[in-house]
Amino acid sequence: MITVTRHQATALVTLLRTIRSDWDERTTLDALAVAAHNRNLPDLAYGAIATALDPASRTPRALTFTDHEHWRRTIRTDTWAPPTRDQECATHPGGWADHCAGCRADRLAAH
Ligand SMILES: [Zn+2]
Repeated sequence: MITVTRHQATALVTLLRTIRSDWDERTTLDALAVAAHNRNLPDLAYGAIATALDPASRTPRALTFTDHEHWRRTIRTDTWAPPTRDQECATHPGGWADHCAGCRADRLAAH
């Protein structure tokens, strides 16, 4: 079952292509459609952005490799709620301490 609309998927493709301008629009949309199976929008967006930020993801097809760590981490967001104070990243309010996207972005930027 796909729980993400075409409009949402298209918007996500646009965002992903700002991260990965080398990713073809059509192929990225097709790969997202595969990854969207049984996922809600927050999970799909989180996993897709993490995949796009990973230099090892050479083509949009990497989005379909949903057994990767990027996607396993989305399991928590199936019933998404923000972290409580004791679960929150000390540096990035709103981020989960054990898998903070802000911390990951900082690590990538430091390279
Ligand atoms: Zn953080």
